[in-house]
Amino acid sequence: MKKYKRYLITSALPYANGPLHIGHLAGVYVPSDIFTRYLRMKGEDVISICGSDEHGVPITLKARNEGVTPQEIVDRYHEINKKAFMEFGIAFDIYSRTSNKIHYETASDFFLNLYNKGEFTEKVSEQYYDEEASTFLADRYIMGTCPRCGNESAYGDQCEKCGTSLSPSDLINPHSTISGSKPVLRETLHWYLPLDKYEPWLKKWILEQHKEWKTNVYGQCKSWLDQGLQPRAVSRDLDWGVPVPVKNAKGKVLYVWFDAPIGYISATKELTPDWEKYWKDKETKMIHFIGKDNIVFHCIIFPAMLKAEGSFILPDNVPANEFLNLEGDKISTSRNWAVWLHEYLADFPGKQDVLRYSLCASAPETKDNDFTWKEFQARNNNELVAILGNFVNRTLVLTKNYYDGKVPERGRTTPEDDGVLSEILKIRQNVETSLESYRFREALKEAMNLARLGNKYLADSEPWKVIKTDQERVKTILNIALQITANLTIILEPFLPFSMQKLRSWINFSEVKWDQAGETHLLMPGHIINKPGLLFEKIEDEEISRQVDKLLASKKSNEPAGTAAITAKNPVSFDDFTKIDIRTATVLEAEKVPKTTKLLRLKIDTGIDIRTIVSGIAEYFEPQDMIGKQISIVANLESRTIKGIESKGMILMAEDKNGKLVLVSPLEKVSNGSMIK
Ligand SMILES: [Zn+2]
Repeated sequence: MKKYKRYLITSALPYANGPLHIGHLAGVYVPSDIFTRYLRMKGEDVISICGSDEHGVPITLKARNEGVTPQEIVDRYHEINKKAFMEFGIAFDIYSRTSNKIHYETASDFFLNLYNKGEFTEKVSEQYYDEEASTFLADRYIMGTCPRCGNESAYGDQCEKCGTSLSPSDLINPHSTISGSKPVLRETLHWYLPLDKYEPWLKKWILEQHKEWKTNVYGQCKSWLDQGLQPRAVSRDLDWGVPVPVKNAKGKVLYVWFDAPIGYISATKELTPDWEKYWKDKETKMIHFIGKDNIVFHCIIFPAMLKAEGSFILPDNVPANEFLNLEGDKISTSRNWAVWLHEYLADFPGKQDVLRYSLCASAPETKDNDFTWKEFQARNNNELVAILGNFVNRTLVLTKNYYDGKVPERGRTTPEDDGVLSEILKIRQNVETSLESYRFREALKEAMNLARLGNKYLADSEPWKVIKTDQERVKTILNIALQITANLTIILEPFLPFSMQKLRSWINFSEVKWDQAGETHLLMPGHIINKPGLLFEKIEDEEISRQVDKLLASKKSNEPAGTAAITAKNPVSFDDFTKIDIRTATVLEAEKVPKTTKLLRLKIDTGIDIRTIVSGIAEYFEPQDMIGKQISIVANLESRTIKGIESKGMILMAEDKNGKLVLVSPLEKVSNGSMIK
């Protein structure tokens, strides 16, 4: 791995029109914080940059809805979010904001630099204009009837009822949300960044030189590049944002996607007069932590901007995460389907590390993942309490009881002792390897292996029994357990900073240098251990049910509007669609899978063969009712072994919003194996 002189870590600027939830933490800020803490402990020169993204249409809309100024909106959420980050120990060196003067200057200069070099193209286009309010209308300011589902409150960019993506000209009876009048088309001038010009370079830079990027990131970039890049407007007609700094640009601001990433640069300027070495020296490694919705901006557009400017370095990696869902459903601000950080802190005071742990352990690193309160409870009770907390507590309490809190001498060690001691360094190395390849879940699991090692060591060597027969041996055992404890405070520090600080204060240990991890004499004989407390507490069922009830209440309050179908999925190509072999088949035999409640084993005739499919439908269908039915199946799904039975394919069902399942069958009988297309 190439050695760099310094690191520049950026974390996606959260949008200042609402509070933060667990999806934000899991996707971006917990991983970026772990990585930053790790580098700091290694003594690297690292700065971690973040701030509020305070421009763009949703903020002006929210302000209009509340009857306040956009500035009031961003002031409110900047403070709330800054505080939430601080309370969760997210260790930015600066949390800036894009409404700062330094950002206006930096973004203006950046635009002018590209403008003077002739990097932009100018284009006149027709856009909707509100003649009563004398203003151009962003897509979100235009509402009308959806041509697809008839929803009368569809926006100019999307119908939220059927999920169709729209443009304002698609709407039936469009009207301005500002004055209610019918918008007219008017010509307007904008500046465009010709991304097509950078396409060959981007292809080489990403597709050839950054094959090590995460597959979800690389894949999304490839798909954008394969489709071909188009020039993209960098300005908008809006009165909130950084004004376009040229003549004939009255009423125009920099488009928020252009101004927001420059926010990283202005925040660095605000942090240090030495900012240029972080942004312009090839010896700096820049890493962008973001969520998947930001991949195109950080991997394609921002690099093209930096390249066009010419004096900046490019990101070395962009370890974007997928999305975190909540209890099986997409996190949604408008439906209040979220766990808000400020509410979590009020409900679980002092338990920041439990959430950090739980979110890292189930982080959506390679695919969307689900947060459930049950799993949160299990992670706390079965891992933090039962493994880490238990080990530390036993070690410290026994030391207190047997040796009055003084670290005992280590005598002759057994081969088992030596094995345990040498394992510490290996664990450290595993954690390093995982962290440096941005695999944080794996890194956390490896780090917890040290607690598992300690817990098992105590359980196997049973000092509480041995004390009756061999007091010298117990000294050695506890000395080793204490060395593991000290090592834990180093190796787990990036993940659980609050708890490890607490633990260090109990063992009177102040070192947190990463390179000390693996050493087996961190606590010398005679070193005093303070009176320990409890590192983690059990979380009871009632606390979990309270959270689940809160979510169910949100769901219920949304129900009147909840008759809408689930939003449409992302488009797939026709080629991708035709890869799926969907055909008709007839059920020949059906029986319940023994010792299960949900599974049916079905023998079906697919027209090409007779095969077995195991399906989770037993709660909805009696076996005898299935026999003879003509159904639809996915015939080329990879086979899976379920309860020891090989299942080849999947039966298609329609599922309504209450989870009720209905068979999808042809309306008339057709021959088995008829293709569905
Ligand atoms: Zn619609």
